[in-house]
Amino acid sequence: MNEIFLMKLGEIVLKGANKRQFENKLRQNVRRRMKHYGNFDVYIMQSTVYVVPEDENADVDGAWEACHSIFGVVSLCRCRPCEKNVDAIYNAIEEYLGEDLDCARSFKVESKRSDKQFPLNSIQISQEIGGRLAEAHPSVKVDVRKPEYTVYVEVRDLAAYVHGPAEPGAGGLPTGVGGRAMCLLSGGIDSPVAAYMIAKRGVEIECVHFFSYPYTSQLAKDKVLELARLVTKYSGRMTVNIVSFTEIQEAIRDNCPEEYFTLIMRRFMMEIAQRLAKHDGCGALITGENLGQVASQTMEAMTVTGAVVDIPVFMPLVGMDKEEIVTISRKIGAFETSILPYEDCCTVFTPKHPKTKPTIGQLIHAEAKLDRQAMIDKAVETVERIQVKYHDEPRI
Ligand code: ATP
Ligand code: MG
Repeated sequence: MNEIFLMKLGEIVLKGANKRQFENKLRQNVRRRMKHYGNFDVYIMQSTVYVVPEDENADVDGAWEACHSIFGVVSLCRCRPCEKNVDAIYNAIEEYLGEDLDCARSFKVESKRSDKQFPLNSIQISQEIGGRLAEAHPSVKVDVRKPEYTVYVEVRDLAAYVHGPAEPGAGGLPTGVGGRAMCLLSGGIDSPVAAYMIAKRGVEIECVHFFSYPYTSQLAKDKVLELARLVTKYSGRMTVNIVSFTEIQEAIRDNCPEEYFTLIMRRFMMEIAQRLAKHDGCGALITGENLGQVASQTMEAMTVTGAVVDIPVFMPLVGMDKEEIVTISRKIGAFETSILPYEDCCTVFTPKHPKTKPTIGQLIHAEAKLDRQAMIDKAVETVERIQVKYHDEPRI
């Protein structure tokens, strides 16, 4: 084979005794991702993941693109393996990187030798190879301080590898090392970003969406499923729980004071989400809440909505500006879908003057006419579970 990927492990290198477990998880995740693109051998040595295409028909470009969204990898490069001698290394560079080198005005060679048996040390490798390249490419100057292009040589245990500059990986921790959490996924900009951020910390994601047909349309549901699909590019496959929320919203409208509508509704969401979470082995909830963004996102409002659950509620966006959130939303490819105009159930029956400083006592009083537990039981019993994976057809 004449091209493989080398991916450098991120924070997991630091994890001491758990390192082996982290590496195994990462290897498993990479293997699973690569399956879609053909036959690849995946192994880890010296804090590096090797991804080796094993058949002619493998979709190497597709696999390369997919490797950029695997958590636990800080940087990655495509490279050419070759024999461990200077001639072979030089020839591999000429063949594999010669054209890139010719496009630059200046270059240097940077070498790393983890096989200490190799007769030249890293400085000597760089000097020897750099000298030969300079002679063969007289229009490209050697510049060891600020080169436009860097040729990398790595002499490792099994072979030598040559490559150009590495690209940034997805960072974070391998999916699955941090347990599982349930994200309350709306059709907005924030919650898909929140799901992505917690997934990045090694957490498997499951989602719940509250759906108020006919107040919100089938399109709104497809939009949420599409957002979930986009998140799976990073998080891996997930289940989306669709909770029919219409009856609960109508009961709130008919039986509760208007200024508390949103807060009561959100307390139902949290409690139902927690029931589903516990059922599926999720140890936390995730929301896209952001301090001060809307009336239901004050500290007091968060106190009354958080009071109905006893597992942690992760709000990774709580201190971010909208602009920062939008940047991530664009980066993960969710933004264009998030801004499609379909209604969310939160915008149905919104109070004209929502309470911004509610107390728990007020909420209990405002909910007094509702049989909350029976309503929650029913919602949980009638949940629709949809499996979503990245290679599904786009939903909208
Ligand atoms: P988003 O952009 O994620 O919709 P938002 O700024 O619109 O957030 P809210 O509508 O107040 O904020 O919702 C706050 C959080 O509550 C959302 O980020 C999401 O986690 C959750 N949420 C809101 N509506 C729904 C829904 N219909 N289904 C599931 N979760 C929801
Ligand atoms: Mg919203």
